[in-house]
Amino acid sequence: MASLYHQPIKSLSGVGTKKAELFGKLGVNSVGELLRLYPRTYEDWSNPVGIARASELDVCCVRACVERKLPPARIRGNMIVYKLLVCDGTDDMTVTFFNQKYVFEKLETDKEYLFYGTVRSSGIHYTMSSPAVADKGSDIIKPVYPQTGSLTSKQIENAMKQAIRLLPEKVNDPIPPEIRDRFELCGLDIAIRNIHFPESSEAVVRAKKRLAFEELLILQLGLARLSSGRHEDTAQHIEKAYTDEFVSLLPFELTGAQTRAIGQCTEDMLTLSHPMNRLIQGDVGSGKTAVAAAVCYTAAKNGMQCAFMAPTEILAAQHFESLSELFKNTDIRLSLLTGSTKAAQKRRIKDELILGMTDIVIGTHALISEDVEFAKLGLVVTDEQHRFGVAQRAALISKGNSPHIMVMSATPIPRTLALMIFGDLDLSVLDELPPGRQKVDTYLVDGEKRGRIYNFIKKHVALGRQCYIVCPLVEQNDSTLVSAEEYAEKLRNTVLSDCRIEVLHGKMKAAEKERIMSGFAAGEADILVATTVIEVGVNVPNATVMVIENADRFGLSQLHQLRGRVGRGKEKSYCIMISDVQGQNSLERLRVMCSTNDGFKIADEDLRLRGPGDFFGSRQHGLPELKTAKLSDMVSLSDAGEAARMIIEDDPELSEKKYRGLKFEMERLFASVGSSERLQ
Ligand code: ADP
Ligand code: MG
Repeated sequence: MASLYHQPIKSLSGVGTKKAELFGKLGVNSVGELLRLYPRTYEDWSNPVGIARASELDVCCVRACVERKLPPARIRGNMIVYKLLVCDGTDDMTVTFFNQKYVFEKLETDKEYLFYGTVRSSGIHYTMSSPAVADKGSDIIKPVYPQTGSLTSKQIENAMKQAIRLLPEKVNDPIPPEIRDRFELCGLDIAIRNIHFPESSEAVVRAKKRLAFEELLILQLGLARLSSGRHEDTAQHIEKAYTDEFVSLLPFELTGAQTRAIGQCTEDMLTLSHPMNRLIQGDVGSGKTAVAAAVCYTAAKNGMQCAFMAPTEILAAQHFESLSELFKNTDIRLSLLTGSTKAAQKRRIKDELILGMTDIVIGTHALISEDVEFAKLGLVVTDEQHRFGVAQRAALISKGNSPHIMVMSATPIPRTLALMIFGDLDLSVLDELPPGRQKVDTYLVDGEKRGRIYNFIKKHVALGRQCYIVCPLVEQNDSTLVSAEEYAEKLRNTVLSDCRIEVLHGKMKAAEKERIMSGFAAGEADILVATTVIEVGVNVPNATVMVIENADRFGLSQLHQLRGRVGRGKEKSYCIMISDVQGQNSLERLRVMCSTNDGFKIADEDLRLRGPGDFFGSRQHGLPELKTAKLSDMVSLSDAGEAARMIIEDDPELSEKKYRGLKFEMERLFASVGSSERLQ
């Protein structure tokens, strides 16, 4: 299959320059990459269910007979609504189409069809809005691809059919046969064909298992390689830890978990033959900054320089302020270096770094720019680690002579997973919050309560508090999408016209985002309507209400992160999740949020309910993007780990011919890590 990576996507018929560009946005430039663009999901038309059963599921296929067609009705402007009454022999349901005259007219009364979509129930009445329709007997499993711009799933499917035809007779399989046998994996050829155009739902399961295994195997081989390189470096040792002295500077007492984590870090720097390489994982508000400060203090007291890298200017500035305050009566010299530092000052800061006059420099990725040099860089700390890629970490590391590394992540990840995802790091967990933290009261409500929620917000704003409203693209009945901007505009013009409302979304330039965010932090707006880009880790203690629209769209860990934006001050805080889903699984998942504030418990539940997909899928870890692992389960995860160990034992360099395919794929996966996209 390797040669197909050299065949440009444009060589397929129906793919011109413009389409090729759209494919490029999906990371697909060659036919080989196209074959590795797996369906986001499938429309399973092969197992139609009854209407009542369907109302308990999220999206599914229903077989029903058209009883009656209602006369079309015009609503607002040029929108025409077409309604049908259908029956599955037991229950009736109303099916609604918007402006789909053609679909509506083709349907005949007294004939059975398959309807694919979401069935909602309001008491005894069932409805389905804008389903896809097919004749009875079209019971196949259809791939649904991730789309971009005007490139539709259907067009991708057409290109895919051609690509499959280009597969060679004998596809080279990167996984050697003995590993395939041992872990009961199908061959690459069968997997590729069935992930796209499955013969049955069992075939999809087999294909996913195989592809996920391959990807996880490659990931773990790559990580093992990164860490083995680091283990060969020799460490700059410290003479002693200065933790007691540090503690005397603090206005509070450390928690047991903080003390333990600091101890583990100083122990690493005292005794390991290779540099420390440690991940500090702690829930939001668990006090990671104090841990970092303690370790920096010890490093600085031992004559090392420290670089403390944060993903945004606001965060860097916040850290600089809190560390300056903490160290004000000590001999520690700090500086702040970010993109917006003035040129003359930048020069001075850089000079001081190279002369060893600064002990701790705090900054953004400006710290990895080429002309920043250190006299004796001994410790690199990266905050909110998932915002940086492996490659960026590596760039900063290369500025020192094998410095110690400490990365901090606010995404609680179950231990089993963390060990695999961060295979190259040792792990310290802050599983204890400082005393006196208030629980954020969390509620799950449906969209009909929106009016009451807006009143609730109004009340809090009147008290001088601030609110977040997170709104992923909001889908309305007629499936048009509402952007955060439109959403905010509506609030400004109606219920919340008295409030100062700002908008934050992913398409804004970084500087613009920072401006809005710091304005909000400074109290210049009452309400921030945002997509999911609300900056991680930013502290706005005055914000007490977090409203999350379409909460079911988010993974639990993501919801937990969002909730962590409130409950940071003295006032009682609230999180309100709005969702209209009815599926039992989705509801069960969301209710976990209402029952606990413990990020690790939530992560465990998420893992139990959804499998490891969320953790790999949401790129919370700065690793290469995994395509199939989202679909995999814990079993394939640990199997892949075992296989990776077997292979490394057999041939650490992967130099044997049978591992050539794996090596090739590993280099391909890790090549994608260097992109700067994660910093936007
Ligand atoms: P995070 O782990 O989310 O980065 P921070 O380091 O920002 O959390 O800490 C959150 C807040 O808790 C800060 O205001 C910090 O001063 C405070 N804090 C940290 N450790 C303790 C502690 N042991 N006792 C009391 N307050 C603490
Ligand atoms: Mg933090």
